[in-house]
Amino acid sequence: MIINEMFLSVQGEGIYTGIPSMFIRVAGCNLDCPWCDSAYAKSQEDGNEMPISSIVDEVQKYDVEHVVITGGEPTIYPEELKVLCNELNSLNKKITIETNSTIFVDCNPHLLSLSPKLYQCWEEEIIKKNLSKKCKKQIKIVVGSIEEALDALKRIENFDIEKENIFLMPNAATREKHIRGAAWLVPFCCNNNVRFGGRLQTLLWNSEHGK
Ligand code: SF4
Repeated sequence: MIINEMFLSVQGEGIYTGIPSMFIRVAGCNLDCPWCDSAYAKSQEDGNEMPISSIVDEVQKYDVEHVVITGGEPTIYPEELKVLCNELNSLNKKITIETNSTIFVDCNPHLLSLSPKLYQCWEEEIIKKNLSKKCKKQIKIVVGSIEEALDALKRIENFDIEKENIFLMPNAATREKHIRGAAWLVPFCCNNNVRFGGRLQTLLWNSEHGK
């Protein structure tokens, strides 16, 4: 597995916001979103090959229950991802896999965090297949305008997921853009009874590497 970085921080997004977690960020992604807040991990050239055993050893240095496998896009390493999940499950870690949901996740995390991209790549059947998994699920959708937010709500209408696990997030890789996006998206969420999804790491550290 090609790893961009591993670090300890608090989860910045979704239902586990604020929970101390070990982050494993893989290098490489199959999409190229213009607002990507981890652009430094988009290419496989942005990381180094690490054996699963070394990744697990690094995780074990920290006394935290939650481990977040993120990217880049973790599912571009399907076989390694399966082995890593098995190893971490055997250590009783609560694994979150963060994925753009363009590839089915064939392993057993505690939480599957789907971030399908409205216009870059929306794989409806794969999203539904991922939502049929038995683990906890959440969907976070980045939107850049009211029209996009309305489109997102329409697309997820028939998805099988609890409403409180659906987040609309501002299209923002910087603190300034996040604040500007929240200014219209928070009222939109209130008026449409849908959960607003902030990015703590962008607000606190302006999406700085390793935090
Ligand atoms: S899918 Fe995620 S990691 Fe990949 S380019 Fe888009 S925002 Fe960045």
